[in-house]
Formats: sequence, structure tokens, C-alpha cells
Amino acid sequence: MIAEQIDLKAGLEKYFGFESFKGQQEEIIHHVMDGNDTFVLMPTGGGKSLCYQLPALLMEGTALVISPLIALMKNQVDSVRAHCEDRSVAHFLNSSLNKTQQREVMSDIVDGKTKLLFVAPETLTKEENIAFFSSVPLSFVAVDEAHCISEWGHDFRPEYRRIREMIKAINSDIPIIALTATATPKVQSDIVKNLDMENHKTFFSSFNRDNLVYEVRPKVSGEKTIQNMIQVIKSMPGQSGIIYVQARKTTEKITELLKVNGVNAAPYHAGLDAKLRSSIQDGFLMEEIDVIVATIAFGMGIDKPDVRFVFHYDIPKSIENYYQETGRAGRDGLQSRCIAYYAYKDINRLEKFLRDKTVAEREMGGQLLEEMIAYVETGSCRRVFLLNYFGEAFKQESCGDLCDNCRNPKPIIEAKDDVKTALDAIVALNENYTVKTLVDFTFGNNTKEMKDYKFDRLPLFGCGKDKTELHWNSVLRQMLLLGLVYKDIESYGLIKLSESGHSFLKSPVPVQITTNHNYEEMESSLDSKSDSGTALDEPLFKMLKELRLKEAKRLEVKPWIIFGDPSLIDMATYYPANREDMVKISGVSAGKTR
Ligand code: ADP
Ligand code: MG
Ligand code: ZN
Repeated sequence: MIAEQIDLKAGLEKYFGFESFKGQQEEIIHHVMDGNDTFVLMPTGGGKSLCYQLPALLMEGTALVISPLIALMKNQVDSVRAHCEDRSVAHFLNSSLNKTQQREVMSDIVDGKTKLLFVAPETLTKEENIAFFSSVPLSFVAVDEAHCISEWGHDFRPEYRRIREMIKAINSDIPIIALTATATPKVQSDIVKNLDMENHKTFFSSFNRDNLVYEVRPKVSGEKTIQNMIQVIKSMPGQSGIIYVQARKTTEKITELLKVNGVNAAPYHAGLDAKLRSSIQDGFLMEEIDVIVATIAFGMGIDKPDVRFVFHYDIPKSIENYYQETGRAGRDGLQSRCIAYYAYKDINRLEKFLRDKTVAEREMGGQLLEEMIAYVETGSCRRVFLLNYFGEAFKQESCGDLCDNCRNPKPIIEAKDDVKTALDAIVALNENYTVKTLVDFTFGNNTKEMKDYKFDRLPLFGCGKDKTELHWNSVLRQMLLLGLVYKDIESYGLIKLSESGHSFLKSPVPVQITTNHNYEEMESSLDSKSDSGTALDEPLFKMLKELRLKEAKRLEVKPWIIFGDPSLIDMATYYPANREDMVKISGVSAGKTR
């Protein structure tokens, strides 16, 4: 064992140039090298790749690494080759190679030169490939981004479902290592079931990203939200960031406004042609572009370490998506900001997308969305909420000042009677319903569901009608965080009483909760938020002056005829984004905005 440990360290140094293992890497690698099935749950930036790359380099035979994206494969192949003398040590096999290249790869494998082979699940399903893989010595199979297996994950790939079948066809005894950065208990059990890893061991690292600062701000009408983003961006000049939006045309619109305000931005979405997309991606990586305004098409495979902020101009459709997208910030461990802008009408829009789906998909999508709403509306620690969602208890009650709710705590109220009421309601409905149904029941909403199941005839129907729906939502959500109730994993959203919930019912004790936010009432609060500290943006001011000079030369007038300095100072302070705002700037008339 000791000799082996020394070898591992030597290998780590030799192949990667690192001095020590990160987190549980060493235990994981031992487990893999002993021929066991292994399940690795580790947040983004935790160092998952090394958990299969190092054992692959040290073991006999070739390791098959299943990865969802060609771009990801290429980066990994490059990074393994960077430390090895022979480039045959790592290859990928996918649709981007021609026949000759494919034959070269196969011959390197046969010659025993290749230690890591990256494949897409589609490659694996081809019969001739299965026959080939069955004929060569393989060390193990690694399934990277394993959450792609689950429909409950944020990136479901139907082909990932067939991986087990393919592995069995190749060699049913070969060990598997599955890795993911996103795992709700539901996704986790889906992966284990689907890959049929009965005797596996799970290596779990905390999902807490302690260098990410979480914040939710109201999304207000017009361009105020964009101006607010610009203010925050301007407070971090030259830093890299990503703004996620829902629609392609929004990427263009926001990019435009950012550029007008001197931010070096570019749009990114699946509708752009592949060449342009990859040049924008390169520009971002090479620091020629600071801010990418993207749909979710931008992300997987971006391992830029110094992304300092991730904004969500539109709320994503699930917490998995949110966690994954914000996870792209701060891989280097330095503090980074995650701000989500929220308006309830965005939820309506997301619900519309669900309408054309099957009943099952609609139900699933609806529940994921409920959780997302609960996250943005919660008045308690965002970090505690996120970790609780992933089935993890955060050791502290709050995160200090690393989320908006901890930074500006909401008033705490005594809720012994309300918690009792809510628990009674849960029991009245046989612990068989989601938060939404429970709120409808307690508040006494006459929904179709209430009538269909005759819940409106139960004595407790409407027992909480003297308080608001928001209030009951807060109470139930906090009960989850306090562990008085829990969500059943298999049925997902159904609320059940825990041990402590049962004992509370027997003898209620004082319990404190914070109420949720009501962002609809916070329209004006975005105005008062100041991020730029004091005001004037010097570089923008300088730019505006240069622009003014150019215009002046073109029109053959004196610069101050175009705009006086006070106007430029105002512009460089308030970032007007449209004509109406422009008119409010000192020294700017309606005529000048044309
Ligand atoms: P993940 O796939 O979990 O998001 P990666 O495998 O991409 O993470 O690794 C994240 C970063 O951590 C990479 O830059 C990698 O080089 C670095 N890293 C991994 N293991 C170590 C280690 N033992 N020591 C130092 N850096 C490491
Ligand atoms: Mg990875
Ligand atoms: Zn917090």
C-alpha cells in the first residue's frame, strides 16, 4: 500500500506536475485501480478529470472515457498529451475523424500505446466499435458528466441511457467510474441504477462553492435591469463574465447596450454559425472579449478559471441549471459574483414552454421550476437552500456575508402556531402532496385539484386563510430547511414528516422563520442599488471625449457644440441605455438623441 502511494504521488508529479492530491482524489484513484466501481460527486473545479486520467496512465490497457462534447474531448486529449512524450497516449474517436485517422487511433490502441480513449456515446453504439473494443485490453470505463443519464439532470442525453448496455456488450466485468458535478439525490440514484453499479462506492465532496457570492435582484421593466448589470460590470473593469439569457435575440440586444457603454461584449447562441461561435469563444478565452451574453448553448467545456461573474438576466428552468451555470464562475477559487434577476412573469414564460410537452415532462418541468422559484423567493441563506436542494446539510446556519440574504437579513418571526398548522395540513393530506398543493389547501384556494379530490370539504381546508399565500410558502420552505419535513426522493416533490416533525406535532416548541421576498413589490429597489461606489467611469468618459472629437471633426463644429463636459460626465456616471434616459442627462435635449 505504501509503495503504491509513493507511485501515485510520483505519477501525479510526473504526468501533471502537481505536488499533492486535491480533496479525495487519492482515495478515489486507489479505489479505481483496485478494480472497483466508483461514483464521484464533486463540484465543478474540484478536479474530477484527474480521478480517471492518472489511473488510466498507470494501469495496463486503455481506459474508455465517455464524454458528451467533442470540444471537451479535444481539450482533455491536449492536456494529457501536454505532459507525455508520445502523443498516442491519448486519443479521441468520434465523427470528426475520417477513416484514415480512425484506423490510426485503433492501431495505436492495438499497439498498447494509448492509455486514454475519449468517445461519445454515439461512437460506442456502433457495432464495429463494440467488436473492436471487445478485442483489446481495457482498464476501465469512465463516464464523465454522468448526470446526462438522468432526465432530472440539467443536460439529459438519451444516448447516455444506452451506455450500460454497450459496456456489457464489450465486457461485463470491466469496472466503471462515473463522475458528475450536479447531483440531486434523484439524479444520483438514476445514475447508479442506470449504470447498474450495485457494489460501487460513492465519493462525495461538498457542493458548497465557498468563493461564490449569491444574490437575487428584482428584474424591472424596461432597460433598468441592463443598466444595473452595467453598473456591476463597471465596478469590476476588465474582468471576465457571462450573462445568461433565454432568447437568442436578447443576447444581441444586451450586447449592443453593453458595447454602447464601453463594455467589451459579444453574443453567443446556437443560431450563430459555427465559425463565428468558435471565434467568440476563443476571444473570450484569450481575453479579447470580457463579457459573453449567451443562451445556455455557451458553457459546457468552458473551463476558463477566472470568470468573475455570472448573471442570469432570465431565470433558468431548474436549480441544477442555475448551479451548473453559476458554477462556471470562480474555478480558480477567487471570489466571484452570481446575480440572478427575477420577475414572476419570466416564470409564466417558462411554463409556456412546458405546455407542448408530454404530461410526464410537464409535471417534471413544473416541479423543477417550483424549486427554482422557491430559491429566488427565499428570505433565508441562499447557500443553505442550494445545498439542501442537493441533499447536503450546510454546517453553519448562514454563510456570513456571501449571499444577499445573509448580508441583509430579513426580520425573523415566531412561527410555532403556523408550523403546527402546516404540519396538520400535511397530515390531513396523507403526506402525499407538494408544497404548491399544500399552500393551496392551507390558504383555501378553490383550484380544480382541491375540488377534484374533494379537499375543499376537509375540515382543515382554508385553515390559514388569515395569512397570505406567500406566508405559507415561506413557512413550508423553512420547515424543509429546518428538517421538520423532507421531500421524498423517488416521488420527488412530495412532502413528508421527519422524526423531528413528528415530535414537534406531539409537543410544539417555539420556532423562528424568515419570510420570503416579494419581488413584485421591489420594483423600485433596483434604483437605489449602487455598485459603482462613486460614480464617474473614467475610461468611458475618456472614450466619450474621443468620440465627441471625431463627431465634431466630421460635422466641422467645436466639440462642446456636440456635448458639454457635464453631459459626458453624466453619461459616464448613469449609463443611459435608451433615448428616454439620454434626455434626462444634463445638457441633452430630445433633438440631440436622434
Ligand atoms: P472538474 O472536472 O471537477 O470541474 P477539472 O478536472 O477540470 O475539474 O480540474 C479543475 C482544475 O483543478 C484544473 O485546472 C486542474 O488542473 C486542477 N487540478 C486538479 N487536480 C489538481 C491537484 N491535485 N493539484 C492542483 N490542481 C489540480
Ligand atoms: Mg470535468
Ligand atoms: Zn447566506
